[in-house]
Amino acid sequence: MPAGPAPAFEQYLELNRERRLESYKALLRIPSVSALPEHASDCRAAAEAIAADLRAIGIEHVEVAETGGHPVVYGDWLHAPGAPTVIVYGHYDVQPVDPLELWESPPFEPIVVGDRLQARGAADDKGQVHLHLRATEALLATSGGLPVNVKFVVEGEEESGSVNLDRWLEANRERLAADLVVISDTGFFDGNRPAITIGLRGLAAVQVNVYGSTIDLHSGSYGGTVQNPANALCAIVARLKGPDGRILVPGFYDDVLPLTEADRAAFAALPFDEEAFRGSIGVPALVGEAGYTTLERRGARPTLDVNGVWGGFQGEGSKTIIPAHAHAKITCRLVPAQDPDRITELLVSYISEIAPPGVRVEIVPQHGGRPSLTPIDHPATKAAARAIEATFGVAPLYIREGGSIPVCASFESILGLPVVLLGFTPPDDHAHAPNESMDLRNYETGIRTVAHLWYELADLPR
Ligand SMILES: [Zn+2]
Repeated sequence: MPAGPAPAFEQYLELNRERRLESYKALLRIPSVSALPEHASDCRAAAEAIAADLRAIGIEHVEVAETGGHPVVYGDWLHAPGAPTVIVYGHYDVQPVDPLELWESPPFEPIVVGDRLQARGAADDKGQVHLHLRATEALLATSGGLPVNVKFVVEGEEESGSVNLDRWLEANRERLAADLVVISDTGFFDGNRPAITIGLRGLAAVQVNVYGSTIDLHSGSYGGTVQNPANALCAIVARLKGPDGRILVPGFYDDVLPLTEADRAAFAALPFDEEAFRGSIGVPALVGEAGYTTLERRGARPTLDVNGVWGGFQGEGSKTIIPAHAHAKITCRLVPAQDPDRITELLVSYISEIAPPGVRVEIVPQHGGRPSLTPIDHPATKAAARAIEATFGVAPLYIREGGSIPVCASFESILGLPVVLLGFTPPDDHAHAPNESMDLRNYETGIRTVAHLWYELADLPR
């Protein structure tokens, strides 16, 4: 028998379409901007609204848990003995709304524009949290249960760095025992093609400070007798990468998982217009590591970039000095299975080693983050792919994001759980920007996809 919800599920969703939209809008009206202290009570109101929703649909042990910052909402339904347990993670907080003048309608007054619901948080991430709750509601209302055990974790600080989440996860390790995490906080690919995000890059970061004399020196009186910190910094940076785009730090690539044939085929299958990509950023040519395509370099290969460099005279004209100090901020995007602490150590020891004589070089590690990957052939990824195909009528694309979602790595490293990134937002959702919107067709079909996924997961051999 094919896995999927009973016909009553669909009938329930049809009957409740209007009520569902109203409830979605009500959640969007709460201005839960986590970064701004004046919205702290709104964040709490959004948490309480999610908690009330969870209780109303039959979720148990619902709690608005204190974290020291904005609360985490927890709730579970654990009556599917023998079936897998899934953590559903999302966030109720939103990005600030400025520049306000670029919004076509007030950001916290949701309106339907064509097929879309427009408001801050419509896509990122209230809409996606809301669609999970609606799938749960419809399943519980029509079949009296869920095919899997579900634990909801909805936090309120994702848009401001999830600063308290790791501690909360650690403190609740037992309560959060599960088999899998499903995060709906990503989106579809270009052309609104259904996609599963299978990988995210991590980060390692250092600041390099190069010190010479205690004061700027006259380049006529001292030039030729001392090391120039700015020249020394440039010499260091020049030795970090080769002309083929390879990073020269010894050991840097040791832990990088090579791309499989399936990985490369998934990249090649993505509809991607390289020339349009180049044109959209206005560069004369695309440049990167030899031997890899642009999408592979962006999603599955590590990088090293100077993010900022400063020192010496910055004014108009010239000033004949040997600067006392020079500085650079450097970050590496990491891929599975690179470890940010290990990479930072390698950077520190290599830069110390290549530092020219005559200056003092200080390398200060900054905050990093782990990469994450749930492979295409992971049973949970395959289950999600079947759920997408059953509801959207098309097989998903598999994408790797060049950036990071730190919470994803937290679930992997703190709870030891695989993460499936199953997001439903259209690629032009304007998340974090003015006129954020959610395609209501994605939202509606997303509800069905989630329900299908629970059945698919319940069917997996344990
Ligand atoms: Zn988000």
